[in-house]
Amino acid sequence: MYKITKLGVLTSGGDAPGMNPCIRAVVRTGIYNGLQVVGIRKGYQGLIENDMYDMGPRSVSNILNLGGTILKTARCLEFRTDEGMEIAYQNLKAQGIDALVVIGGDGTFTGALRFSKKYPDIHVMGVPGTIDNDLYGSTYTLGFDTATNTVVEAIDKIRDTADAHDRLFFIEVMGRDSGAIALRAGVCCGAEAILLPEKATAIDELIENLKAGQHNKKSSSIVIVAEGDKNGGVYDIARRVQKEVKVYDIKVTILGHLQRGGSPSAFDRVLGSRLGYAAVKALIKGHTREMVGLQANYIKITSLEEALTEHEFKLEEDLMEMADILSI
Ligand code: ATP
Repeated sequence: MYKITKLGVLTSGGDAPGMNPCIRAVVRTGIYNGLQVVGIRKGYQGLIENDMYDMGPRSVSNILNLGGTILKTARCLEFRTDEGMEIAYQNLKAQGIDALVVIGGDGTFTGALRFSKKYPDIHVMGVPGTIDNDLYGSTYTLGFDTATNTVVEAIDKIRDTADAHDRLFFIEVMGRDSGAIALRAGVCCGAEAILLPEKATAIDELIENLKAGQHNKKSSSIVIVAEGDKNGGVYDIARRVQKEVKVYDIKVTILGHLQRGGSPSAFDRVLGSRLGYAAVKALIKGHTREMVGLQANYIKITSLEEALTEHEFKLEEDLMEMADILSI
């Protein structure tokens, strides 16, 4: 069996709370099992720029509670090219690194799969780290729970002021291709409507629902709009509704990057620790070109090929249906 000796760890793509607990678990599990561990800065950029450093158990002290990623992250165009990958490979060989844990989203996994096919002597395990919760192979991704809690806290505050003034708020949350945060936050905050990239919502229907809410004596309304909704953006939707719904004063809030930051929730700390630990154990057992994920509260390993190509992530239909009914 292929025996690994030196492990590299990197975070790539958008940062997500929970990446630090995961890095900590990778470093300490690796060292516990006799491996040398190297931190690679700024994702694949650090592989190309040879920006790496040796890590020990104390390199990851007191980071469980930190948002962001101590290794930093980047979107690296050069790694998409064959030349960039070759430089990365040569740097890894020069350092004696024979295994990698890559923490990121589907772009990160796409890069890892290509790299691993070109250079099979570097074993690679993926850890799903993205606030979007849109990866096949894991019911939850790192950062999704924290980001959702952040959104819920913000919307609760907006509901207070909306209620005091009889206002209708349109709130844009992150999710260019994924309505996962919007849907959960909508259920948690009793949103009157949730607009998602995965489901077309006719503006006429939205207007009718909001009018019905007024008729039913609702004193405020909240509409959550995921970034990727296809109706033309939150300001445009608000303008169209304003023309038809006269009673409410209409406001727009874009929550933006605050959704990425903050201390990881207890859930994300446990998930990051479990996934980091499992990724290293899997590499030691000889696994490669796969990802670790959480399914029915157990750690499951899925091939990157399958995670990226065979299945599309689907939002829970029952949550969508329930959210509509519970907000009448
Ligand atoms: P998030 O879901 O938070 O956006 P992500 O991992 O999907 O995270 P991306 O920016 O799409 O974020 O991808 C991260 C990095 O992975 C890219 O910057 C690039 O370096 C690498 N990558 C993405 N696609 C490819 C590809 N086809 N070939 C090689 N590398 C890739």
